[in-house]
Amino acid sequence: MSPTKTAIRVIVFMNSFLHILISVLFFPFFTVNEYVFMVQARGIQIRENVKNIGAQVLEQVVRGAYSINGTDYSYDFNFSESDAPPTTYLPEGFTYLPSQVCPEKLPSMKGRLEVNMTEISLEEVERFSLEREPSMAPGGFWKPTDCLPRWKVAILVPFRNRHEHLPILLRHLVPVLQKQRLQFAFYVIEQGGTEPFNRAMLFNVGFKEAMKDLDWDCLIFHDVDHLMENDRNYYGCTDMPRHFAVKLDKYSYMLPYNEFFGGVSGLMVKQFKKINGFPNAFWGWGGEDDDLWNRVQFANYTVSRPQGDQGRYMSIPHHHRGEAQFLGRYTLLRHSKERQKVDGLNNLNYFPLVSRSPLFTNITVSLSRKLAPIADY
Ligand code: UDP
Ligand code: MN
Repeated sequence: MSPTKTAIRVIVFMNSFLHILISVLFFPFFTVNEYVFMVQARGIQIRENVKNIGAQVLEQVVRGAYSINGTDYSYDFNFSESDAPPTTYLPEGFTYLPSQVCPEKLPSMKGRLEVNMTEISLEEVERFSLEREPSMAPGGFWKPTDCLPRWKVAILVPFRNRHEHLPILLRHLVPVLQKQRLQFAFYVIEQGGTEPFNRAMLFNVGFKEAMKDLDWDCLIFHDVDHLMENDRNYYGCTDMPRHFAVKLDKYSYMLPYNEFFGGVSGLMVKQFKKINGFPNAFWGWGGEDDDLWNRVQFANYTVSRPQGDQGRYMSIPHHHRGEAQFLGRYTLLRHSKERQKVDGLNNLNYFPLVSRSPLFTNITVSLSRKLAPIADY
């Protein structure tokens, strides 16, 4: 018999024993009503005990079945790689050679991360990032030197008027990507002009500009206010298209709907080209991530997601003052399929201003509808 079962039996027995003892010893002092009440109360207490222990047993069983190494992740049913075998990370002190491809599951990737949202200046982050890793080149280009990077990853961040968020993101994410031994650089694509924000078109611009620098393998489309809570959320190109931001604090750590593709997502360059990139027709908040999801489906790709708590993120709280919702998104989404062929990388024009700062490349671009001509939908 398992220790938990024994514990249940002992508690049930003790309860019944006490109940009989009290009844026999004190029976003459109780009225019949009091006696009946006491018996009922005992019965309720026993049932409560059994229920509590039952819940604990269930939790133990579920934890045992789903956790990695049985310890570091709480159980949960809401993940997509449920049939994947538990992942093993390389042990502490594992060594690799500069001539070998960097492993994917490094010992330095420990799991849960502290998230620091306190504001900091960009200069400060630049200063200590370079102190720690002097080999970072202007534009934030970095690659490991103790092994050959497995993937070349461009991190694209759409941006306008969120200056306090960017240093917080860089302080958090740069060290993680270095621990993950990826070759990477950050591209902050900043929208100028007065048109509503167009997150998707900025990603298209970022992609085209990034590819002029280097033959990147894959792209991470990253909101500036999303901070990962687990460094095993690997930003390499494995298993793409991938939706990374599965569990957001603002959605109580639950996926809001199955087709949700917002926050942080990633595609290999060849996949992104095949789906004709993001749509350009979504002006203002909302819908562009759903359209990307549709494009990925039409190309017959399946989206993967990090398992369990690896997909947890905190988002920096902010307001939406002065930012327009895009009300036409539902109409556009009904025509995702036919629009995919004519709206994306292939109808995009732009005139960027590119500058390098220590940790990222800034691409400032003024956007308007005439830069991505398309029929009305
Ligand atoms: N964004 C920005 N300025 C804006 C609107 C959006 O920089 O005025 C960028 C930023 O990277 C942000 C992302 O687009 O994280 C998604 O927008 P937002 O944070 O407003 O979306 P929500 O928080 O509602 O998901
Ligand atoms: Mn946000």
